[in-house]
Amino acid sequence: MRPADIITAKRDGEELSGAVLTEWIHAYTRHEVADYQMAAWLMAVYLRGMSKAEISALTNAMVTSGEVLDLSAFGRLTADKHSTGGVGDKTSLIVGPLAAACGVKVAKMSGRGLSHTGGTIDKLESIRGFVTALSKAEFMRQLREVGLVIAGQTADLAPADKLLYALRDVTATVDAIPLIASSIMSKKLAAGAQNIVLDVKVGEGAFMKTTEQAIALAQAMVGIGTDLGRRVVAYVTGMDQPLGYAVGNALEIAEAVRTLKSQGPADLTEVCVTIAAEMVHLAFDMDRLAARRQVETALASGEALSVFRRFVQAQGGQWVDATDAPTLPDAALQLEVKAVQRGYVQSVHALAIGRTAMELGAGRAVKEDAVNPAVGVVLHVQTGDLCLPGDTLATVHAASQGDAERAVAGLTASFAFSAQPVVLQPLFFARVDRDGVHPLD
Ligand code: URA
Repeated sequence: MRPADIITAKRDGEELSGAVLTEWIHAYTRHEVADYQMAAWLMAVYLRGMSKAEISALTNAMVTSGEVLDLSAFGRLTADKHSTGGVGDKTSLIVGPLAAACGVKVAKMSGRGLSHTGGTIDKLESIRGFVTALSKAEFMRQLREVGLVIAGQTADLAPADKLLYALRDVTATVDAIPLIASSIMSKKLAAGAQNIVLDVKVGEGAFMKTTEQAIALAQAMVGIGTDLGRRVVAYVTGMDQPLGYAVGNALEIAEAVRTLKSQGPADLTEVCVTIAAEMVHLAFDMDRLAARRQVETALASGEALSVFRRFVQAQGGQWVDATDAPTLPDAALQLEVKAVQRGYVQSVHALAIGRTAMELGAGRAVKEDAVNPAVGVVLHVQTGDLCLPGDTLATVHAASQGDAERAVAGLTASFAFSAQPVVLQPLFFARVDRDGVHPLD
């Protein structure tokens, strides 16, 4: 294999075979291909695209660059979910317990967040005592005993992705669908679950800005999973405004717990019930409506909350019996953002709220940054709500007076109002499975 030949082939739009892609990616993982050569190839992929067969072969090469978790002891009952991420997206914390309460074995490996708030791992680590570094034996035992485990991703899971992503990040090659799809799916496939439900976010606060892009990404990921022997379904869901009200690590855990107590925001609850029902449908080959009924029962009966409590305690997290909630830190101070006019909320600028949360310390600008688990923003309104002057629009949870005041000033411009009632955007745009795209709005 001559690197220059592989770069030339892709530059000229040729299709690479599975064998060539495997050798190329594995050689790069062994540091036998230089970063400048891989960077040139990534740019060729970015400009030329890849065939469906190439995308699956690239993903398989990334999966086999490291270890694949063997969950075969659980048969077809294992499931994982992945969200492409957005502002205030705490769905994994709710979907996991809902599906596990219905008998699905939910095994999830997550990375740390590099965005507005932390990732699922950062959120969970805001619970006092919670441990995310588990040995393989601990991971398997918890999956068997609790039915839900969420651990930090180990370095030997799809190591090629780690190297490639770092290179893409500095060579303007992140936002190419074949590269995003293979990156996400390589980690999901290496984590071993038989059934995978994807939540592809679209909108102002998401990676994918248009429905067309989001559907294309969903199709690419469903195609990869199907080609490589897993059952995969993707939902395309809206992210023009934050999901739920809380944006910030501990604040999102608290909202997830409220949701598991059936007191959560309607949008968040609906997305979580739909995704969990899809996991139950896939794992048990159950009718989708029957699966949904099971999930609703697990929520209403408190069984999903009980799974969450067992999961938190199994991973060392403190749980307070008096409040039936985990121990979470509080920010030093809180400051409110008030409405100055009467009007219907026309938009809640998800990206601006995410940026404010990050500036407060809830997220990372670079991966070396530490997150402050306690800080963030809690919204009091969503699109469509009627506000009167003096109503609270949001509460800032900050570490200092200066941070809080800066955040309040920034947030004031994050809400737009209309004198007329506002037509709400759909929560779901499409469901994508191996048979195609099914529009939902
Ligand atoms: N998330 C990933 O894991 N990989 C990408 O390429 C983009 C988002």
